[in-house]
Amino acid sequence: MINLPTLPPINSAFLRAFITDAVRVRCGRTRDLRPLILTYFVTFRCDMRCTYCDYTDHGYAHRFKELESEGAREVLRICREGVPAVAFSGGEPLLRSDIVELVRYARTLGYRPISMFTNSLMLEEKQEVLEDIDYLQISLDTIDEELQDRLSGCRGAGRRIVNNIMRYAPLQKAKRFRLNINCVLSPANLDSVPELLRFAEETGVRFTFSPQLEADGQAATVLHDPDTRHRYQRAVAAILSHKRSTDVVLDILPFIRHVGNFQSGSCYPMLTPRVYPDGTLRFPCSIVCRSAPSVPELGSWRQVAMVLRKTPATCASPCLLPCYLEMSLLAEHPFALLQELT
Ligand code: SF4
Ligand code: SF4
Repeated sequence: MINLPTLPPINSAFLRAFITDAVRVRCGRTRDLRPLILTYFVTFRCDMRCTYCDYTDHGYAHRFKELESEGAREVLRICREGVPAVAFSGGEPLLRSDIVELVRYARTLGYRPISMFTNSLMLEEKQEVLEDIDYLQISLDTIDEELQDRLSGCRGAGRRIVNNIMRYAPLQKAKRFRLNINCVLSPANLDSVPELLRFAEETGVRFTFSPQLEADGQAATVLHDPDTRHRYQRAVAAILSHKRSTDVVLDILPFIRHVGNFQSGSCYPMLTPRVYPDGTLRFPCSIVCRSAPSVPELGSWRQVAMVLRKTPATCASPCLLPCYLEMSLLAEHPFALLQELT
């Protein structure tokens, strides 16, 4: 382990894999990349109904039944043989009754960093997760509480999320985790981005963002209207300016430039394999996944790795899905990660 002053401990296996991947990308050996982060969607249930979210609109929670605790532990155990870091995602991961135990289990397996993407509404009840989490990402699109309520489809959510961020931000040092807010840029919140950046700075948390996307991962049609596009570019310019003048913005510069122009890039989905609540492996990604074998049924990382290697990782229309795009850009621009570490 190395311990850096500004970041939680990073697994040396993660750094080794990252450096190896960056060299292989540079040499064009992109079929030999090593996975870096498992994105485990532990549930598609959610206690919010965000206007831009596909997972709730299309009844995902019914289509993809969650594994019981034992099955979820099996997914974590198998994938740890080949992946150094994990991100718990959803839906709302804190809705799982066993989430504290699953995160603790991930820690005992040696995953690091461990991240969680949450809307925070259940955080007080499940705050034990903070003992084992390195990065906590809370979704917040605006500090205008009424607007946030509308975007979340949930009355009172705006105030509760802002209060949670202010409550848990001061605990970062003592509990050894880093908190960031994640904002989805949609026509409704474009003009309030500077305020949100100021809030992040004053509260001592970091900031990430993505544009609103369609189900195929392309920028939402509503962002292409000329006036909205202009406002979008102004919001991204504010983010870029904060990136240059403060350490608030976590997204790397190449990512900000790409999404600022709605421009995708090379995609290396091997870096971030994702598993759905029912234990199925969605590779190369949820958009172009054709067959989805079950990780517990595959039974070992060796079998999972064979599926990853045999599945052609190509698509006709490269997208802006942030976890794929940003990790792929990091592999192409490894010094951007080093800048974050200094
Ligand atoms: S909190 Fe996340 S999963 Fe829940 S509705 Fe909003 S975007 Fe979707
Ligand atoms: S660019 Fe990557 S994440 Fe996007 S559709 Fe293609 S393979 Fe999937």
